[in-house]
Amino acid sequence: MTTVRMVRLPASVLVVASRAYYDRNRYRKLVETGGYLIADVASPGRIAAATGPGSRSEHGPDSVAIDRAEFQDTVAREGYTLCGDWHVHFRFRGGTDPSPDDRAAWRYELDHTDAPEWVGLIALRSEHAWEEVAGYVTTRDGCERAKVLSTLDDRDRQLLAPQVARSALLAPPATWQAGKLRQDIGALDDDAAGLKRLRARELERNLAERGFHADLRPLEPRNRTEEEPAALRRDFGRVLGIR
Ligand SMILES: [Zn+2]
Repeated sequence: MTTVRMVRLPASVLVVASRAYYDRNRYRKLVETGGYLIADVASPGRIAAATGPGSRSEHGPDSVAIDRAEFQDTVAREGYTLCGDWHVHFRFRGGTDPSPDDRAAWRYELDHTDAPEWVGLIALRSEHAWEEVAGYVTTRDGCERAKVLSTLDDRDRQLLAPQVARSALLAPPATWQAGKLRQDIGALDDDAAGLKRLRARELERNLAERGFHADLRPLEPRNRTEEEPAALRRDFGRVLGIR
């Protein structure tokens, strides 16, 4: 039996990637971008968030270079560790297969981290939309494709976008105030969890209208907050029609 590797992404990762992409490609010059994936040192196997490219990155039509030194110490200061990276591929140049340079870069990152594996995400972009996010896990034994699990749909990701834009994630690490990164990641997790519960309740309502009764709960462990956070109500309540 073969086991399929799974990479579970918090909802904010694709929002960060999308936002970083638009920041870099506002004038249609179509260059690649990317960033790091970080994990809480307390749970190194779980991706906590993605960063933007930082301020020392170099972007080309088929390459992107992120400066590890710009991130490493500041990420560590905040109690996180680098556990992977993400970057864009363009559909008109090919697909989600990693280039030899991608594989070499992942191997290099693995060799410079204490973690037993390095996660590489390739987000495939066609002219107007994201098509697919492919995941790869590099270990000392090699690189293998992984199944990417991400929660929430495009509508929910749009709702998270303003909060991602205000967060430290897309800003250069040198600008991060102590504690802000953790605070922002916690708030994004809470709101994603709140959206999941809202979706479950919407579904319950729809089922109830058809005479079915269900008590749906999120599949993932509960977050710290049990109720919808106030910020979620404030930002999303109008859109979703809740009070
Ligand atoms: Zn690549």
